[in-house]
Amino acid sequence: MRTWYQRTEEDILANLHVTKDGHTSKAAAELLETKGENVLEGGKKKSTLQVFISQFADLLVIILIVAAVISAFTGSEESTIVIIAVIILNAILGTVQHKKAEKSLDSLKSLSSPSAKVIRDGQKMEIDSKYVVPGDILLLEAGDLVVADGRVLNSYSLQVNESSLTGESTSVDKSEGVLDEEVPLAERSNMVYSSSLVTYGRGVVVVTGTGMDTEIGKIASLMNATREKKTPLQVSLDQFSSKLAMVIMVICVIVFALSLYRQMPVLDAMMFAVALAVAAIPEALSSIVTIVQAMGTQKMAKEHAIIKELKAVESLGCVSVICSDKTGTLTQNKMTVQNIYIDGKVIEPEELDLKNQLHRYLLYDAILTNDSTIVDGKGIGDPTEYSLVEMVRKIHLPDRVIRDMMPRLEEIPFDSDRKLMTTKYRLHGVPTLLTKGALDVLLDRTTRIRTSEGVREMTEADRETILNQNLNFSENGLRVLAFAYREAEENETLSLDSEDNYIFLGLISMIDPPREESAAAVADAKRAGIRPIMITGDHKITATAIARQIGIFEDGDMAVTGTELDAMPDGELDEKISKISVYARVSPENKIRIVDAWQRRGHVVSMTGDGVNDAPALKKADIGVAMGITGTEVSKDAASMILTDDNFATIIKAVANGRNVYRNIKNAIQFLLSGNMAGILSVLYTSVMALPMPFAPVHLLFINLLTDSLPAIAIGMEPAERDLLSEKPRDPKEGILTKKFMTDIFVQGALIAAVTMAAFYMGLNKGGSALASTMAFATLTAARLFHGFNCRSKHSIFKIGFSGNWYSLAAFAAGMVFLNLVLFVPVLKRLFLVSSLTSGQYGAIYLLAVIPTILIQCVKMIREH
Ligand code: ATP
Repeated sequence: MRTWYQRTEEDILANLHVTKDGHTSKAAAELLETKGENVLEGGKKKSTLQVFISQFADLLVIILIVAAVISAFTGSEESTIVIIAVIILNAILGTVQHKKAEKSLDSLKSLSSPSAKVIRDGQKMEIDSKYVVPGDILLLEAGDLVVADGRVLNSYSLQVNESSLTGESTSVDKSEGVLDEEVPLAERSNMVYSSSLVTYGRGVVVVTGTGMDTEIGKIASLMNATREKKTPLQVSLDQFSSKLAMVIMVICVIVFALSLYRQMPVLDAMMFAVALAVAAIPEALSSIVTIVQAMGTQKMAKEHAIIKELKAVESLGCVSVICSDKTGTLTQNKMTVQNIYIDGKVIEPEELDLKNQLHRYLLYDAILTNDSTIVDGKGIGDPTEYSLVEMVRKIHLPDRVIRDMMPRLEEIPFDSDRKLMTTKYRLHGVPTLLTKGALDVLLDRTTRIRTSEGVREMTEADRETILNQNLNFSENGLRVLAFAYREAEENETLSLDSEDNYIFLGLISMIDPPREESAAAVADAKRAGIRPIMITGDHKITATAIARQIGIFEDGDMAVTGTELDAMPDGELDEKISKISVYARVSPENKIRIVDAWQRRGHVVSMTGDGVNDAPALKKADIGVAMGITGTEVSKDAASMILTDDNFATIIKAVANGRNVYRNIKNAIQFLLSGNMAGILSVLYTSVMALPMPFAPVHLLFINLLTDSLPAIAIGMEPAERDLLSEKPRDPKEGILTKKFMTDIFVQGALIAAVTMAAFYMGLNKGGSALASTMAFATLTAARLFHGFNCRSKHSIFKIGFSGNWYSLAAFAAGMVFLNLVLFVPVLKRLFLVSSLTSGQYGAIYLLAVIPTILIQCVKMIREH
């Protein structure tokens, strides 16, 4: 069979049972059923059973089970059963957590999955790319991601970048037609392939393959797909865990040797040593990180920031520079025309008069060099453009009639590099070019001016007056568009060279007020030690005026244009960069340079972007931020975070959340490690002092595997504190395990070990080793549960309050219930080798257990004053 690119369009459409009007919704739904979703299967997911089994894939746990089974034959079946039960229960808990984290990561993935424009039932619609099926008629335009393989039916200068498949970084033209010869993928000019980017033009495509049936799908299956990568924090914790494991192993060997020396049966000694190792080695650290980060990203998604990769959560907390677009991100993107400069005068929009020929040309230019419209009071298209439609409607000009009467002959669309848009119409029977765009660009291409007295050569004085007027508008924060036209030759076809020799008509200024929350968000950013910077395509003076209103630009700061930046050598930029808070008239390449310069100074940079050309800058930034509403699919693909409300304030909220997630992870780690430390120190102490064992293996497993994980997760859920934004950004090079952090863990662990040993001695004096071990076990469990409250925050519990985190209360309560069940229910007492307690001893346990927490809280309170 001939392959897709060698067949005729009719043949392909017939083969796929579809017309150019697309599938019916019913046919599409059926195809989705049979062909499956249009997604790459990123490595088969583990089933729940596999996840459960993998929880046991730990050599120590296996040794422990083997030791327990062997010891069952020597008479202690009960404790064998309990050990196995506790390990199974722990594996169930681990499986539930794993599945929950996986589910929340999946839901994030689907939030950020690209959309596609298709024709179905003869109508254009936007659907999630995963619902695209073979035979769908796909509409592509610059900025889109190609989401499936397809054959080009129509191309309007369609250009595509296929580097992900071919490695070729320049864009290639795509066109209609049949290719007879067999050609390699890179030369199939009538096909587009999934994962390519549309860089220019428009196209209509019929989908020939989806999901794993695409060319990229074939590669993906070859590589056997991408595994979820570990974040830097997870990697460093994994490394730390393995080092710690070595130390613990050494301790366990010492304990084992001492036990043998004291004539403990080999099997018991071994089981104890292994239980100690299982209890003390924090294998759970890396999974706690995933769980807390996954929960954090869920919260951020609710607050309009979709995180595409977990790694971004960590970097967010370190962000020290935020480069933000102006229009729509810091401002409302609600343009309203304010004033018009025409014929040497500034007038109100209402004063425009269709009977005045000069005004008429400006009005034609405004309506016709314009692709937006207003339906039911809602603007569709570019806000800059529909503000012009609103303007002409104010003077009751029938914009639709004018557009219907005059068909557009040609156009060069607006792009933010050229900052111009040009169309060709026949006005009064004469082919005419109409242009609108940035004044600084247009003025260079203008040689004449039209006034009420007619067209004349433009003088230097004219230029100066126009520039002054532009300055005047811009200083008030207004966006200015310049309008010009010229007659064209009958046979002149439009090209970029045509945009010259224009006749100046006038200026229209429009207001785009800052978002209400921008000023507060900028102040928050500054308080948080983050430098906000405005990067915009708009005029320098306009941008500076807005930046001043919202607090980004302060006295002494500098504003620089893209051209000035181009002329600046790296050395000079490095010198000035800390002063520059506004970059105007920038190109996408400028953005890359700005990111680079800040990164050279050791900063972690966040950069926003929406256009197809912004992708490299978004990738270069530590946190690339794309706009969910107005952004292109390409920019969303390149970003690590997507704002679903396009709002600058959301970035600041996300940074706060990122900081909070990191802090919570750190606190959870502190909780787990200090608790483990307490256990190890207690065992080490009794071994060295030749005392009986303070815990039975089941006790250690009970604490570490059951009562510990809930408080750790609860600590991970701690809400953000208000003072989070008054701290400086975290140094990305500073690891989590600082000296102070490790000292805290040691001191807190030692405190808990001390009270555990006090309880142990008490029991030893009153009732012997069984009572001693019961009291030590209960005290250690309770002390660690109390300690959960200490680890919630660096502040005292009275400052943060108990009610701020209900999860921590619930985790505490659950732990206490577990403990008391073991202490009082006769069957459990027997299974967990627990002796009966008098009420005095019971009281003593709690009193001792709460002491470390009281001390730690006192220190916190003293530090607060
Ligand atoms: P940013 O979103 O980066 O803050 P911006 O939206 O102001 O900036 P662009 O959309 O690239 O940046 O616009 C740059 C300049 O191009 C504007 O200042 C304006 O003069 C001109 N311009 C904007 N939109 C149009 C348009 N639709 N047609 C013609 N010129 C336009």
